[in-house]
Amino acid sequence: MLKNKTALITGGARGIGRGIALKMAENGANIALVYRGSQEQANKTQLELTDLGVKAEIYQCDVADFDATKKLVQDVIKDFGTFEILVNNAGITRDKLLIAMKEDDFDAVINTNLKGAFNMTKHAGSHLLKKRCGRIVNISSISGMMGNIGQCNYSAAKAGLIGLTKSSAKEMALRGVTCNAIAPGFIKTDMTDALKPEIIEKILKNTPLNRFGSIEDIANMCVYLSSDLAGYITGEVIKIDGGLYI
Ligand code: NDP
Repeated sequence: MLKNKTALITGGARGIGRGIALKMAENGANIALVYRGSQEQANKTQLELTDLGVKAEIYQCDVADFDATKKLVQDVIKDFGTFEILVNNAGITRDKLLIAMKEDDFDAVINTNLKGAFNMTKHAGSHLLKKRCGRIVNISSISGMMGNIGQCNYSAAKAGLIGLTKSSAKEMALRGVTCNAIAPGFIKTDMTDALKPEIIEKILKNTPLNRFGSIEDIANMCVYLSSDLAGYITGEVIKIDGGLYI
């Protein structure tokens, strides 16, 4: 479904980003994979990707750093010639009740989860606009749609990412670039492995499908939104949450 395309994926060494990279590679895409701290995992994922017969390169970059993301996009174009797909997946949590939250907890999450996506969309977007085709997929969260106790920073960033998605979709549509968001519910990764058992029990009780989602659930949608099949979909937010937020 993605043959002859190249995808630039942030936070691709592990978790959901790794799953998206592997699924896109299975569908024929070459992968430019961005990591921040997980170099060993990035090396491993790169090998898994090249084993699938596609070209894969890894890049160390903090998406919150404006100048570094500019250089990253230039490096990817140098190595691959071009790219058609951007997946803004990199994200962190620093959960605390608002009253207890430190300024740094708020700033760090906004800078990575929201400003990071702006940085990437700005630099990668100008390449896609020149090409007059492209796909941008932003990994938001249902926390950005319904709020969540202990996540005012994360919910604000993910809600902001939905606004960024819709504005980007309107600005880029006439140049053939679509921009959509996926809002996962609770997916089994390192991020949710950190949740306390009583919180997990509460989440499952409120999830009609009564289970956490899998990385594949998100990766499949990401491949679809990045493919030619989704050419008439833009500015959408697709919830993948087992019915948690109906
Ligand atoms: P993980 O904690 O497993 O992975 C986070 C990824 O983000 C890592 O690859 C990490 O890279 C990367 N990252 C973090 N900060 C930066 C940065 N400043 N610059 C570049 N990369 C960075 O999380 P998940 O896989 O669970 O989450 C992936 C995305 O999905 C996130 O945006 C998250 O908010 C979202 N999401 C996840 C849900 C879940 O239930 N798991 C639910 C809803 C949304 P490295 O390891 O190299 O530092």
